[in-house]
Amino acid sequence: MVTVDPKAGPKYIYRFTEGNAQMRELLGGKGANLAEMTNMGLHVPPGFTVTTEACMAYLASGAWPEGLGEEVEEHLRDLETEMAKRLGDADDPLLVSVRSGAKFSMPGMMDTVLNLGLNDESVHGLAKQSGGDMRFALDSYRRFVQMFGKIVMEVPAEKFEHKLDEYKQRKGAGAQDTDLDASDLEALLNDFRAIYSENVGEDFPQEPRDQLRLAIEAVFKSWNGKRARDYRRQNKIADDLGTAVNVVAMVFGNCGMDSGTGVAFTRDPATGERVAYGDYLPNAQGEDVVAGIRNTLRLQELADLDPKSYSELREAMDTLERHYRDMCDIEFTIEKGKLWILQTRVGKRTAFAEWVMAYDMLEERLIREDEALLRVDANRLEQLFKPVIKADVKASAHSIARGLNASPGAAVGKVVFSADEAEEQGQRGEHVILVRRETTPDDYHGMIRSQGILTSAGGTNSHAAVVARGEGIPAVCGADGIKIDPTSRSFSANGTTVGHGEFVTIDGFDGAVYVGKLELEESKLERARRGDESARQEKIWKAFERFMGHADSARRLRVRANADTPDQARNARERGAEGIGLCRTEHMFLVEERVAAVRQMIFASTHEEEEEAYAQLLPLQRDDFVGIFRAMDGLPVTVRLLDPPLHEFLPDLTSLAVEVALGKERGEDVADQERVLAKVRELHEANPMLGLRGVRLGIVKSGLYAMQVRAILEAACLVRKEGGDPKVEIMIPLVATREELRQMREELEPVAREVLKREGVALSHLEWGTMIEVPRAAVTAREISEVADFFSFGTNDLTQMGFGFSRDDIGKFLSMYEQRRLLPANPFVTIDRPGVGRLMRMATEEGRAANKNLHLGICGEHGGDPASVAFCHEIGLDYVSCSPFRVETARLAAAQAALADAATSKRDV
Ligand code: PEP
Ligand code: MG
Repeated sequence: MVTVDPKAGPKYIYRFTEGNAQMRELLGGKGANLAEMTNMGLHVPPGFTVTTEACMAYLASGAWPEGLGEEVEEHLRDLETEMAKRLGDADDPLLVSVRSGAKFSMPGMMDTVLNLGLNDESVHGLAKQSGGDMRFALDSYRRFVQMFGKIVMEVPAEKFEHKLDEYKQRKGAGAQDTDLDASDLEALLNDFRAIYSENVGEDFPQEPRDQLRLAIEAVFKSWNGKRARDYRRQNKIADDLGTAVNVVAMVFGNCGMDSGTGVAFTRDPATGERVAYGDYLPNAQGEDVVAGIRNTLRLQELADLDPKSYSELREAMDTLERHYRDMCDIEFTIEKGKLWILQTRVGKRTAFAEWVMAYDMLEERLIREDEALLRVDANRLEQLFKPVIKADVKASAHSIARGLNASPGAAVGKVVFSADEAEEQGQRGEHVILVRRETTPDDYHGMIRSQGILTSAGGTNSHAAVVARGEGIPAVCGADGIKIDPTSRSFSANGTTVGHGEFVTIDGFDGAVYVGKLELEESKLERARRGDESARQEKIWKAFERFMGHADSARRLRVRANADTPDQARNARERGAEGIGLCRTEHMFLVEERVAAVRQMIFASTHEEEEEAYAQLLPLQRDDFVGIFRAMDGLPVTVRLLDPPLHEFLPDLTSLAVEVALGKERGEDVADQERVLAKVRELHEANPMLGLRGVRLGIVKSGLYAMQVRAILEAACLVRKEGGDPKVEIMIPLVATREELRQMREELEPVAREVLKREGVALSHLEWGTMIEVPRAAVTAREISEVADFFSFGTNDLTQMGFGFSRDDIGKFLSMYEQRRLLPANPFVTIDRPGVGRLMRMATEEGRAANKNLHLGICGEHGGDPASVAFCHEIGLDYVSCSPFRVETARLAAAQAALADAATSKRDV
């Protein structure tokens, strides 16, 4: 909502003293936190924030919103008064930084311009301010021309970088930017300005107010840049939020060795441990840390360099952590021994670290148990079960280089050197490691397709490290022993040359790089889960145990698994499944030795032949169910009667036709194949997904379902007689009408009764129900529920039929749909709430209205997707059912959905 001042138009600018941490929507995360810190009394340079609404107004009309110009001028004058300096002053100039900051942090996606306000005159004033340090003033000016050229005017960045490299090389091998003296920098500045004019078509702007206006506009526009759009699409961030712009009085980290800049985390974002963690770069400005221009020092080394600033920083870190009650990441600058806090936010962390931190903070009583549970991300839980390099393999392997352990997990892949190639090969299913000097936001598309990322420059906060941690990709950064040679497409390290396409292994836990494929092994958590005692001593396991225990008491939804075999059932139960929500019986029919009997059933021309086939299948089916009922003893098992069209059990029509034709040509006896071919042709359907499958199959081949019911009940009786307690739910698939289900029950219930009577057994639980996977079934749920004990939403088919999208072919156009924002997410992954979700809600409400004992679940793939689990909680289902490996994810997501209403998580600061 636009804030309207009754006397004027919307208020587009807020001073830091006017905002607070809750105003992220309007001021962006950075602006809101700058305001919060200002009001907490921390040492923040003064400034103001142009709102996200101003950005959206600019983007909507393509023009500077009415009144914004005046507001900028007014706030700039206030800032000049407060700082007692004027922008562009030749004697004592005010300089500002212009920083983007959207509601959600988008690392590296938006750009910052520093040192704004410098021109040919004020550069002398800056030298005066620094006690006559012309080198520092020229260095600041050349940085400004470079950043302004690159970010605001889109001059290719490498033009400036190559020029800077030339100057450094002239100084001798290994020279750094800090080795350039004032006269070098003056010459470099002239060259930078020439690059600027050549590329922009006009001279570098000398009027600081023009510079500011252009810079603000560039930040606005960057919201719609490709990098930002790609990031938003990947991270499901809305396009209409806009970015705020922060204009902040400059402080300088590049005015000598008593100055510098860095990033500090209040806890280790990779491991979660409570240690100060971060990087510091003396005599540098902020962009140097991110770009990996020079290798950084560890934060602790600042304690020796500048003990006073270090202890002030530690104090600020404690204050911020206590205030936000979470791990904070802090950007700071030291200007001639004086500490300034430039930014803070609740820091991004690895999936591993978030569990450890939440656990420690709970123990430290910084947060409560519900809050701790809401702090961990169910979508990333599976990462905790990620592989590491096998311990003995690791002990005898020799690393060729070592860098920083920027993002955990071990990865093996072929070396590629460009993001485009990583994307292309990754999409083909190849495992690749992207090797770069450093990465930039333009590499994002390739990074997310890589198994791992390896860079030779940059610290733990370089772009590569930040993105890798956020995406859960193992990464080793700043391995400076690695020299990349772009011409021969290879890199060398410690005397070893590794070519493009060769395998390497990286270890994101300790930063080691190895040639070849090293054998990986399970994560600590996976080992602990299996009972390994030493792994059970680890904090991550304690955190996992404690939080999952709490999750189980907090959630309302039950969690079952989709499992078709006794092994799967056992695995699911170990992971906490409370039953089976879907046992697909077709997998039992596809086992090789059963195909003959299945085919006999399909080919049967008489009732007797058909019954003979069933007689062969029945004991096999019964054995399958015995194993499953034993594994799930005491818990409900939903068995679905056969669903797929029968042709799936026969050879492919085209290949068989070719085989027959070739055999004939060779004069062979093909009578048998011809018989099969005739049957395949007879069963062939134009739209098999809408054809003879599900309940229709049960109606046409009535003996088939009767055989399955007999096998299920006989198995249940056997387990019951052993002393077990099988809880049986029989599910009829693809029902569209009440009558289909009613007739099926009428036909099958007597079969079940007959078995129970014969065996003299009573079951504690025997129910009959249907899947809701055809839109008509959802719409007529009221009638269907009168003849059903339960519904299970088959959201794979319900999505397929709801959208009319083939679930097997959506890959052909899904990326286009996502790019054009035709869909907010893949609807086969996350439930489409307004469409398919609405059908579910309607069927739930109307089904329950007509049958108050009806119980409801979901067994489509969505049952393991946290956002969909939250929806299932919301509409009041009784359980979700998902793949065994996602059972923990679903348990956690169900608890978070239940807690979400009650507790407000502060982690999104
Ligand atoms: C479904 O359609 O959601 C379902 C679980 O059944 P299947 O995936 O076997 O079609
Ligand atoms: Mg289905």
